[in-house]
Amino acid sequence: MTLFADVLLPLSVSTPYRYAVPDALTPRVVPGTRVLVPVRRRRAVGVVSGIGSEPPAAGTQREILAAPDADPALSAELLRLGEWLSSYYGCPSGLSLRALLPGALWGGRGARVAGPAERTERTITLVKALPSLLERERAFSRSPKRRAAYEALEALGGTAPQRHLVSQLKLGTQVLNGLVREGLARIDRVAAPRDPFADLAVAPPPALTADQRRAMDAILGTPPEMPVLIEGVTGSGKTLVYLEMLRTVVESGRGAILLVPEIALTPQTVARVRGVFGDAVAVLHSGLSDAERADAWRAVRQGKKRVVVGARSAIFAPVQRLAVIVVDEEHEPSYKQGTAPRYHARDVALARGRVEGARVLFGSATPSLELLHQVDHGSVRRVELPRRVGDRPLPPVDLVDLRSAERVPEAGPVTWSEPLDRAVREALERKEQVILLLNRRGFASFLQCPTCGTVPGCPRCAISLTVHATPSALRCHYCGHEEELGPTCKSCGATTRRMRGLGTQQLEHFLGSRFPAARIARMDLDTTSTKWSHHRILERVARGEVDILLGTQMIAKGLDFPGVTVVGVVDADTGLHLPDFRAAERTFQLVAQVAGRAGRGPAGGRVVVQTRSPDHHALRAAAAHSIAAFAAAELPLRTLPHPPYPPHVGLIRFVALGKTEDAAAARATRVADWLRRANGERLGGGLTILGPAPCPIARLHGRWRWHVLIKSAEPRLLGRVMRAWRGQGRSAALIVADRDPVSLL
Ligand SMILES: [Zn+2]
Ligand SMILES: [Zn+2]
Repeated sequence: MTLFADVLLPLSVSTPYRYAVPDALTPRVVPGTRVLVPVRRRRAVGVVSGIGSEPPAAGTQREILAAPDADPALSAELLRLGEWLSSYYGCPSGLSLRALLPGALWGGRGARVAGPAERTERTITLVKALPSLLERERAFSRSPKRRAAYEALEALGGTAPQRHLVSQLKLGTQVLNGLVREGLARIDRVAAPRDPFADLAVAPPPALTADQRRAMDAILGTPPEMPVLIEGVTGSGKTLVYLEMLRTVVESGRGAILLVPEIALTPQTVARVRGVFGDAVAVLHSGLSDAERADAWRAVRQGKKRVVVGARSAIFAPVQRLAVIVVDEEHEPSYKQGTAPRYHARDVALARGRVEGARVLFGSATPSLELLHQVDHGSVRRVELPRRVGDRPLPPVDLVDLRSAERVPEAGPVTWSEPLDRAVREALERKEQVILLLNRRGFASFLQCPTCGTVPGCPRCAISLTVHATPSALRCHYCGHEEELGPTCKSCGATTRRMRGLGTQQLEHFLGSRFPAARIARMDLDTTSTKWSHHRILERVARGEVDILLGTQMIAKGLDFPGVTVVGVVDADTGLHLPDFRAAERTFQLVAQVAGRAGRGPAGGRVVVQTRSPDHHALRAAAAHSIAAFAAAELPLRTLPHPPYPPHVGLIRFVALGKTEDAAAARATRVADWLRRANGERLGGGLTILGPAPCPIARLHGRWRWHVLIKSAEPRLLGRVMRAWRGQGRSAALIVADRDPVSLL
């Protein structure tokens, strides 16, 4: 009897294609198997989603051409997770599956269906033992170097990669080749996964503190199906608790995933994990080439690596016998994927935990209100780490009111108050380190003509152009468009123009003249665009070669430098008034996180926050290092009589795009009409529908943008909307459907 397989292709399609399974492939072709199939005149890689005996309804019968892997690429659990992704995020099944496998395994039109070849490297293995001293003397009588090489290999267990012998032990290749010629050793080429973190020095982790031990016991005392939030103040050592949890899992022969935000995936983080698990760890990060990613994926799939550390997409790693998933810094918006499927790794972790029966742990000093809401409703258990390691106090935070504070006269347009100036100067005099946060890169936010008021904007986006000094240009921070910083106003020809809004380049320039002896490093998107550049900056800070580290939000995350005693927030208001309901929450998280970088060493620390809104609850709570205070003030603002927002309701955002504003508006109107009809006819009026309206950023990359928001306290209704939307099969290129959006701009 001929069998037929349903095959999903990694395209914007929801229905699989049915192919006949050739007899020779029958044992291999099961759900989850990667197969090569003919599609029109091409060949493509797909994944089998089901097997049956029914032939396709119409058209010619075509056969599967090949099944390159010995084992199915996707387990039954990951296939189910793919279905969940597709249903929850209203995304075609084909696109959901695409998220589950590294790009290289989808092949280039069948050209290399097996994916990139595994990299090989030369290893040298001793083949002849020389047990007696006499034999040894004879064999190496005229070549002491060869003897040293032989004995080094012996000490390494008889085999080692040539690269290691040459680069670490400084043995010459001629000497090694000599061993081969004498018949004492042989050279093999073996598969060697590429791993840029391979040469890290590792140290075993310190023992758990009493608080950390208590947290660990509380987690182990929680039923595995109940997710846990570790709410620990900055510097309380949450990572040690994760590592201990992972250790217990790996010891019992099972696997684990540790998710960290991309920016926190530093050699320091990786070294800490390696310190516990050595080579059993696979590190997945954006710096990997396609081939490296495929290597790592294979090693995990084959069970050679049992622990995966990685950013967002590592949540799909094919870890065998997965027993625990840890999501560190759970509040980070970078866990949300910006293209279909627009998943949030925090929520995928919960879904994967359910299908695999794995425990899920979240950690943060500033948890998201979504997660706190789940704690309040009893679906997530909270475990607290209320104190810093070594009982170091959290640093005191001064809120400096920029409207009334005394400014340093030499600072000119730079917002630089006397209290911040004093704190920085004193730290430098004591040879301590300073971190300054300014969440705006470039030299100035925009340029304005004082004569006619014109502000140069991006021709493709409804955004003013940012002034950059080095190299000099006006640049769009959304699409990268660049213009010359000409000498005159393009509208009226006036020759003087004013720069507004302080950026990191200008701050660096000012600090250079204010503190000429200080060694200053700047970290923002402009200085970290090359591979590993931000690691190199942080390594300089760690070695004490930097006195002042200034930068955008990327310096707020996870840094642990005991030498830092002063943290300054130069302008806390940069994101406070954005037209997004999470503006206050983001500001709270950013200020509280960067404040937490101060005073991690014995010298203590302090924080100075400059603001024009010192009474804002986000800043008051950040100054008190208190998520509880923030949540208590913010949660009531997101429910009646105010317009309800998450976490009280769920949210879906539809963004319609168009070459003209009318086209975008018409498209958004049709979506809104469809939603209103469905709401009235089938959903019992359970949705609140807002819009259509222009997005706050009305034009981006040359396309106009209108959006429609829907809200509902019933996730079930939002789920029905997403599935109905998927069923409509509308072009994702023209209308984006985003469930649980992290930005409304
Ligand atoms: Zn002008
Ligand atoms: Zn632009």
